[in-house]
Amino acid sequence: MSQPTIQPTIQLIRGFKDILPGETELWQTIEKTAITLFEDFGYREIRIPIMEKTQLFARSIGEDTDIVEKEMYTFPDRKGDLLTLRPEATASICRSYIQHKMYAQNPVQKFYTIGPMFRRERPQKGRYRQFYQIDAEIFGIEEPYADVELIFLLHTLFNRLNVTDTTAHINSLGCPNCRPRFKEALSSLLDDASEALCKQCLRRKDRNPLRVLDCKVPGCKEAMAGAPALIDFLCDDCRDHFSTVTDLLSMLDVPFTIDKQLVRGLDYYTRTAFEIQTGALGAQSAVAGGGRYDGLVRSLGGPQTPAIGFAIGFDRLAEIVSTCNPAVLKTPDLFIAALGKQAKELAFKWTAELGSNGICTTLEYRRKSLKAQMKQANRAGAGHVLILGESELDSGVAVLRDMAAKTQKEIPLDLVVEKIKQTFSKTCEQ
Ligand code: AMP
Repeated sequence: MSQPTIQPTIQLIRGFKDILPGETELWQTIEKTAITLFEDFGYREIRIPIMEKTQLFARSIGEDTDIVEKEMYTFPDRKGDLLTLRPEATASICRSYIQHKMYAQNPVQKFYTIGPMFRRERPQKGRYRQFYQIDAEIFGIEEPYADVELIFLLHTLFNRLNVTDTTAHINSLGCPNCRPRFKEALSSLLDDASEALCKQCLRRKDRNPLRVLDCKVPGCKEAMAGAPALIDFLCDDCRDHFSTVTDLLSMLDVPFTIDKQLVRGLDYYTRTAFEIQTGALGAQSAVAGGGRYDGLVRSLGGPQTPAIGFAIGFDRLAEIVSTCNPAVLKTPDLFIAALGKQAKELAFKWTAELGSNGICTTLEYRRKSLKAQMKQANRAGAGHVLILGESELDSGVAVLRDMAAKTQKEIPLDLVVEKIKQTFSKTCEQ
């Protein structure tokens, strides 16, 4: 008879997901690889809140962006203050940099942070409503070395994770000096295309024409196909900045493509903008994105501070990494098969002591036969099994079986912990 399907009465929210054991090992590997790399390059971890005042995101990401217009989880708290679940990390890091006057100590600061973000987008493969990002940011450096350092870090991280099917797309979005000439060049095209534009773009076209270039609606995309590119309107300083970025990338052998159409979906970007794209993800081809935001700290009330950062889509990266790396499953070093109350209690004490000494030990707490426990040890992939039944208690020795070599030896009960510690040089951490 088939089992009735059991469903929890309450299921998770649409677009949200659980990351289960079996996947978390991979997530931890990615996290450790990223953290090691960041710390080797002098980045320090910053942890920022999951929620901020709505104004922080509206002002920094931009009122006309998709994120702010349509995707934020915003609600009034009990006192009526508008709060938002963070859709990205940069705005909060800027707020923190200003609020704690970190610039006073040293304007140059390098941060990383890893955590969940929230955007109410249409859920699909590679696009979630709660997703995770790995962020890195450099404050206080205007020189193109910072831009190239970040792109180099992305390139190195992906290589270390065996992800090689990626390309860095780079562009320059100029500075406030370059924008008026560009807007002028774009305006006649926008006026001519008015009928083809979506409602939002009609509203955005005068206030924020860059957003029209980033619109995903097919009609808008078509109408903007022949639009001029900002990179062709750069002032001398921005042009020099961008050409140094490309020279330094070549010097470090980081492959890149200049992508004039790359605009990015957030308003705060200036000068260098970049995206790491991959063929491995279907429609959601961007696995990381970032850029310079030289005006953001000032606009949020801080001193003029150039800055640049990136965000890697952790969920997307994990998906790619899982396809190009064999799964690494953690197995226990030792399984203790204990039979009877007295044996179980002694084994329980050993398990606590061995676990505290970094030897990953599993003890079956429930009452099970030796045969069932050996099967279980096999299934778990334990390297060794320690057998302690009534006859072992009587004779004063436990039996340690090496599962791969299929050999076994006896260990006096009072020496078990010591002998097993000697046997294992490997720890749970490794
Ligand atoms: P952004 O903060 O929009 O620059 O995005 C940076 C990276 O985060 C993107 O390249 C994606 O890899 C990832 N990302 C953004 N939105 C989502 C989402 N809704 N679901 C999963 N990953 C996302």
